[in-house]
Amino acid sequence: MERLETIILGTTEEDIRKGAEILRDGGLVAFPTETVYGLGANGMDAEAAGKVYAAKGRPSDNPMIVHIADRKALEGLTSGVTADMEALMDAFWPGPMTMVVEALPQVPRVTTGGLDTVAVRMPDHPVALALISESGVPIAAPSANASGRPSPTSGQHVLDDLNGRIHAVVMGDNCQIGIESTVIDMTGETPMILRPGKLTAEDFEKVLGKPVALDPALLQKPVLVEDPASQNGPAKIADADFKPKSPGQKYTHYAPKAEMIIFKGEPEAVRLAIAEAKLERVQFGEKVGVIIYDDSKPEEAAHNFFAELRAMDKAGVDVIFAAALKEDGVGFAVMNRMFKSAGYHIIEV
Ligand code: AMP
Ligand code: MG
Repeated sequence: MERLETIILGTTEEDIRKGAEILRDGGLVAFPTETVYGLGANGMDAEAAGKVYAAKGRPSDNPMIVHIADRKALEGLTSGVTADMEALMDAFWPGPMTMVVEALPQVPRVTTGGLDTVAVRMPDHPVALALISESGVPIAAPSANASGRPSPTSGQHVLDDLNGRIHAVVMGDNCQIGIESTVIDMTGETPMILRPGKLTAEDFEKVLGKPVALDPALLQKPVLVEDPASQNGPAKIADADFKPKSPGQKYTHYAPKAEMIIFKGEPEAVRLAIAEAKLERVQFGEKVGVIIYDDSKPEEAAHNFFAELRAMDKAGVDVIFAAALKEDGVGFAVMNRMFKSAGYHIIEV
């Protein structure tokens, strides 16, 4: 791929106008949202959207979320807006909720990863909303990291991964939520969560007054086999029964450069096991990073997790030991990321 001169933009009106112009011209512009930084392209332009996959090194069957700044834009993407969808939009947009809906034929299949459904979200961030409005088109935007790396929660993270590969980055504040949006599939009889996030099944059930399902794959821990080719721990997912409905959920994701192991069990036992494992590794001359969150503050864990993985990589850590959080509320979403970061390398204590 040819090396680009990545333009660093601020958040002034003039900068937003410049970013929007690059998007309209088919370029790639990264921008802040309340979840993580997104890498935007004109979602209605197949050529522009195709550049996103190349810049990230993202598999082309992993669809992108289309970001809109007003509900009217939904009409250009889908014809099937239901009462349930209206209710969820009223409650949670702008915000960290992505709805999967039937796609109109004019939505490029490059944007949808070849599917006849499209994922749509209205982000709750003034800079993202201004950029999308000013561009005048729906913006396809996956997380602005190199594929497989932890998602970026600051403009610097974006540059660390994509400098020279994208046309511009809008440098805004650090992302408040820190993990990606909840993805909810609205195309079936029962809405189904395909990717957990800050908004939970209970949040949706309260609004809809009916049950919301979880993709069963979210509750599965795939079987691991030794992978001699892997430089990052021994794990390789080799489970024929592991078939998440959201294409993005099947890829190894969010991985730090360091080996990563999760310790799961009673908090005290976990602390002890981590301390022992750390001592052993330090004796072998390895640099060890430890991640232990307060179980009662999963929002804080979500806010910090990806940034911490990246900071440990920068510090040259060889191995990261992380304590599992309780898998409820936002903790479920954090653990969804943590398990993938560690390639499902889990020690039960
Ligand atoms: P990212 O943009 O990196 O946050 O990833 C977007 C996530 O949304 C991925 O996990 C995708 O697989 C998922 N996604 C996007 N579009 C669809 C769709 N049409 N059906 C199911 N999942 C989708
Ligand atoms: Mg992503």
